[in-house]
Amino acid sequence: MDQKVSALVAIFLAVVAITAPIATSLYLARQQSIADQESHVAKLAQDVLRRTDRTSEQLANALTALETTAAKSPCSPDNVRLMAQLALLSEQLQGIGYVSDDQLLCASFGMGDSPALVGPADYRSADGSDVRASVELPISPGTRFILVTRASSGYTGIIHPRLPLDILADGFAASLGIVGYSSQKVMDASGFFDPSWIAALGDHDKVEIIHDHYVVSVHRSKVGDYVAFAALPAVSLWDGIRRPAAFLLPMGVIAGALLAYVVLHTARSQLSLPALLRAAVRNDEFLVEYQPVINLQTGEWVGAEALVRWRRPGGEIVCPDLFIPVAEDTGVICRITERVLDLIGAQANGFFTEWPGFHFAINISSADLQSDRLAELLKRLADRTGACSGNLVLEVTERGLIKGEKVKNRLRELRTGGVRIVIDDFGTGFSSLSYLKSFELDALKIDKSFVDAIGIDAATSHVVFHLIEMAKGLKLELIAEGIEEESQLAYLRRHGVHHGQGWLLGKPMPLSELLRHLRSTRENIEAPAALLG
Ligand code: C2E
Ligand code: CA
Ligand code: CA
Repeated sequence: MDQKVSALVAIFLAVVAITAPIATSLYLARQQSIADQESHVAKLAQDVLRRTDRTSEQLANALTALETTAAKSPCSPDNVRLMAQLALLSEQLQGIGYVSDDQLLCASFGMGDSPALVGPADYRSADGSDVRASVELPISPGTRFILVTRASSGYTGIIHPRLPLDILADGFAASLGIVGYSSQKVMDASGFFDPSWIAALGDHDKVEIIHDHYVVSVHRSKVGDYVAFAALPAVSLWDGIRRPAAFLLPMGVIAGALLAYVVLHTARSQLSLPALLRAAVRNDEFLVEYQPVINLQTGEWVGAEALVRWRRPGGEIVCPDLFIPVAEDTGVICRITERVLDLIGAQANGFFTEWPGFHFAINISSADLQSDRLAELLKRLADRTGACSGNLVLEVTERGLIKGEKVKNRLRELRTGGVRIVIDDFGTGFSSLSYLKSFELDALKIDKSFVDAIGIDAATSHVVFHLIEMAKGLKLELIAEGIEEESQLAYLRRHGVHHGQGWLLGKPMPLSELLRHLRSTRENIEAPAALLG
């Protein structure tokens, strides 16, 4: 159940690992795109406002000029000439005229004696101007103008609606417009407009919002009672997102995949190894190889260390260094030991009847030493292989020799039963000599790291010398492991080390190969004897 939860957590983490960076990159791309578009519409709205403000200022100046002249009659030839003059000087005004009773009575462009009906104002702004947003004049049929009439005097500015909006709104279908601030009425607009955009402005001078698929910017005029707006449809947001997303998305995918790989890899090795090991015990995935132990004085093969290997269903062989520590931590080790003893029993059935002087060394962990089954398992192995006293050896590390009478008694019982005890990896632990002496032991196995140092590292070589002397003092047998060089072999021999193991002498091998060697050496010894006989 725990493993199921762990696996679910691992999957969840992997999914988060994949999706989080992608979602973040998309979010960032969209945020970037929105920010870009907001600044774009803000610029458009600002442009429209600037042009409208300029028109409005010129209009105010012209109308004030007319008002201050205080002509006898607004439509007198002199006053109409002044209107023409003022209109000519203004870039933004198409014309200037005089409106009374919803009629344009005279204008800068000359209307003869026929006044034009302009209809009632659409609204009156807070600054006292009557605004007519769409008026067709007889002088220019088909064109609509904006008429802004100062209510106090009747003087009127005539503006072409394209003027304030005639800005470069580039390829986008931008909506632009001018809306009365108090009246909320549209003065001039192109494209879609939603009155709630103006409401969003509140008391502020400007605002950028995203509303109903539009990115909108609204700017309020400081000179007149109106606002300018610009809006872009949000569909174009995806166009904006495309470029940053093209960069960010692959980055997100790569980062996500890497994270997922790391998470799953860790999860696989950390979470499921114990489960895989248990399954391996059930499915018989272990095998044993035997590495010869050699009498360094005679060169004779006197024993072999059994080394476990795990063959995965795919055929891949896993080294014990990778799974034994996990097996020890999770308690699977006892089942593996049982399986190893079982395999040796099956492969080496009756072995010692043929080779009574040989031994098998078996690696065991502290959990095995504490288990009540070990003696029983060894007894069964002895029965199957025909082992007598000295044929079975247990290799225990210093770490495995935990304190306590129980382990001590168990070792004593095993020894009484004819099993020999070797301290493995000797020299790498921190046990004091007196502590080791308190156990009943038969041999010490000098760790490979010390053998490696022979002739290379003077200080460590010195330690090897002392280890050898110490063992002699304790009257313990010595085995050197990991011999790879002739020089190491020569040194160990010279210093009286009894037994050795290493690739130079023999690699771990199947039992059949070990037997082939034993038989061929026996024949070599027996053959000359037979010839003599
Ligand atoms: P160990 O008991 O110190 O075993 C010796 C290791 O050194 C073996 O590695 C062996 O293949 C390797 N070796 C032998 N000669 C040489 C050499 O000349 N050069 C080099 N480089 N290596 C050499 P292996 O088989 O991978 O075993 C690693 C460790 O796994 C063992 O260290 C032992 O602690 C543990 N182990 C192996 N089999 C068992 C088992 O059945 N039960 C338990 N509890 N532990 C085991
Ligand atoms: Ca060993
Ligand atoms: Ca060792």
